[in-house]
Amino acid sequence: MRLNIESKDDIISILDSDSRALLHDLFADSTEVKLHNVGALTYYRGLIELSNKCAKDCYYCGIRKSNDKIIRYDLDDKDVVEAAQCAYRLGLGSVALQAGEIVSEKQTLRITHIIEKIKALSGGQLGITLSLGEQSIETYRQWKDAGAERYLLRIETSSRELYSKLHPLDHSYDQRLEALMALRDLKYQVGSGVMVGLPYQTTEQLADDLLFLKNIDIDMCGMGPYIEHVDTPLYQKSLETTMLSLEERFMTTLKMIALLRILMPTINIAAATSLETIDRFGREKAIKVGANVVMPNITPAFFKKNYSLYNNKPFGDQSNEEYISVLTKRIERSGDKVVFFKKGNSLHFKP
Ligand code: SAH
Repeated sequence: MRLNIESKDDIISILDSDSRALLHDLFADSTEVKLHNVGALTYYRGLIELSNKCAKDCYYCGIRKSNDKIIRYDLDDKDVVEAAQCAYRLGLGSVALQAGEIVSEKQTLRITHIIEKIKALSGGQLGITLSLGEQSIETYRQWKDAGAERYLLRIETSSRELYSKLHPLDHSYDQRLEALMALRDLKYQVGSGVMVGLPYQTTEQLADDLLFLKNIDIDMCGMGPYIEHVDTPLYQKSLETTMLSLEERFMTTLKMIALLRILMPTINIAAATSLETIDRFGREKAIKVGANVVMPNITPAFFKKNYSLYNNKPFGDQSNEEYISVLTKRIERSGDKVVFFKKGNSLHFKP
């Protein structure tokens, strides 16, 4: 190893530095750690954005409930199951079901039903990740019992102060933390993460984010650059404050991924889609420096454009087959082998 990363100060000085030599050493170290611990392998999760209806009002997010400029949709259960069937046929190994946060008995039952169908169609072979926000322990338990094995719930920022600037008063940091702990107790593989380059965010907070993720001992991470959505309150703030440029957010995210790989060698790290919004080859670059999961979007094309978390979120109109084949070539050109027909569980996870 070329770098010594032991303290928060070490992390801060790396995040703050624009020395080429240091960057080179960081990425060489993180690549080495990746190779030795999880191999030069990338796993897919077919991402199905099953609804953009949301009861939350996060200031940064394009599908927040107060945004009345978007068309709300809910996929039919049969479309969700069909997309999962397609993922299974293409050998993606796992699917991730994501939606806005809806807490209701109907939603609990609906998702339970979908999980059961997906398990049945694949004889239990297709892995299922959920990303459906904060729910009761009972609901999390029901979904786990139905067959879901992983849950993604980003803390968004580990700083309470920044959290309170990004969310209305009724959104609670403690509740989100409790939800993460409940998921852990229920023996989900737990994923979390943060946005990078938010208004008001400091380098020290980003260093704390990494230490927070290590401290709560996550199994998986999804971490991407913040990208403005014009129809959100945070966009207005972005205009009034000095912020990192998109390129800086991109590079800081790559550094965060590399640092996290070094700090947590065996977890799964996703190359976030928002990296691709800034750089066409963003996800491949993330894979090179430590990420090992990509979430190709297999939401039926007609709905994709309405799941607008941020502006310029990519949505192609190729068939899933075409898209996966092109993506696979691109990833393999950057050095990793894509693994098909395997769930790709987090090696960090101890059941
Ligand atoms: N309702 C689920 C899923 C949220 S959407 C939940 O609460 O977990 C998935 C992720 O998109 C969020 O966790 C957030 O980190 C990210 N996201 C939302 N708005 C964004 C923006 N403007 N820029 C970048 N990422 C954003």
